[in-house]
Amino acid sequence: MILNKNLKSLNENETLNTKKIISILGSTGSIGTQSLDVIRLNPELFEVEGITTNKNTKLLLEQIKEFKPRKVTIFDEDSYLDFLKIKNTSLDKDLVKLDVYTGLDGLVEIAKSKSIDILVTAVVGMIGLVPTLEAIKNSTTIALANKETLVTAGSLVMKEAKKYNASIVPVDSEHSAIFQCLNGEDNSKIDKILLTASGGPFRGKSKEDLINVKKEAALKHPNWTMGQKITIDSSTLMNKGLEVIEAKWLFGVDPDDIVVHVHPQSIVHSMVQFSDSTVIAQMGCPDMRVPIQYALTYPERIDADFERLNLFEIANLSFEKANMEVFPCLKLAFDALKHGGTDCTVLNAANEVLVGKFLNDEIGFYDIAKYIDIAIKSHDYIEEPNLEDILKLDEWTRDFINKTVK
Ligand code: MG
Repeated sequence: MILNKNLKSLNENETLNTKKIISILGSTGSIGTQSLDVIRLNPELFEVEGITTNKNTKLLLEQIKEFKPRKVTIFDEDSYLDFLKIKNTSLDKDLVKLDVYTGLDGLVEIAKSKSIDILVTAVVGMIGLVPTLEAIKNSTTIALANKETLVTAGSLVMKEAKKYNASIVPVDSEHSAIFQCLNGEDNSKIDKILLTASGGPFRGKSKEDLINVKKEAALKHPNWTMGQKITIDSSTLMNKGLEVIEAKWLFGVDPDDIVVHVHPQSIVHSMVQFSDSTVIAQMGCPDMRVPIQYALTYPERIDADFERLNLFEIANLSFEKANMEVFPCLKLAFDALKHGGTDCTVLNAANEVLVGKFLNDEIGFYDIAKYIDIAIKSHDYIEEPNLEDILKLDEWTRDFINKTVK
């Protein structure tokens, strides 16, 4: 299994008292700040080399002060230029000697550094792909939190990871759960992956209930606090669809062997059913720092005083089927995955643009699925796309959606 290989940081090159060097793409977002929380709790284990933000230079400055990275990237160019002014007039030593970059090249600059052991990919969207591929070329371990990387280019990314012997350790709670259930197991003995879903804010609703629903309702997630894009994806169940696609690539299972279980308590983070009928589940209180810490310390499990699960208090764990009529995005994701090739690339790009439009009140809830379907049907399908094909098609899809949605 590719995930278990190349544990260079713990097996070969390092002794226990050497710190792991970490860079985080997207350090000011939800996963990024929680990754830094884990690092803050374990200063003897980790050192931060690079961090990045889109525009949140205020928080980035605080993070620079605390974690003393050697390089940062501010993706947004105007924010980068403003930041340079601050840096150039500063007397702070840590700030003066800092390397500062911008744009996609800046993310690549952070990712491709040969000195890092782990790259946490916590940026949102397609921009995570190219930097991740660059890190893979150095056999750097990827703590994967950016969903779009595997959704848009799963076949290519897994091929590259194998070629360069780079580990991909999942950060997302469901994939971390599956990863933990598979510890010491043989992947060929997987019968089914039972992927849990909270069901999002609209669980139990009908199509009629949701036709006119607005972003304010969609942004109220019951169990997890996350960024806006992923919260909307949770409300359409596209988030689960993207996770199904990721699970296929990470664990090498057939789409038909991934079964979504809506589990509103979010206590079971996912399960694996094996060929002898055994089901192993991973459970815990919903706290993203748990899977983040596991990804950063893997294959070790280190102590933490995160909240303990009290099953007596929870009393009931329930499971139900996902309703693909009410949540057509989930069905679209399964169909795209089964059809393969470039369908998932288009699904992902169309979804990104459409979620943005929904957040701007330009389109309705069901327009997201409607236009994704149209984009997939309208694109020039490629069975085995290379990076160039994927990047071109991503751009084509964004243009297509912008022209088609009026
Ligand atoms: Mg998840």
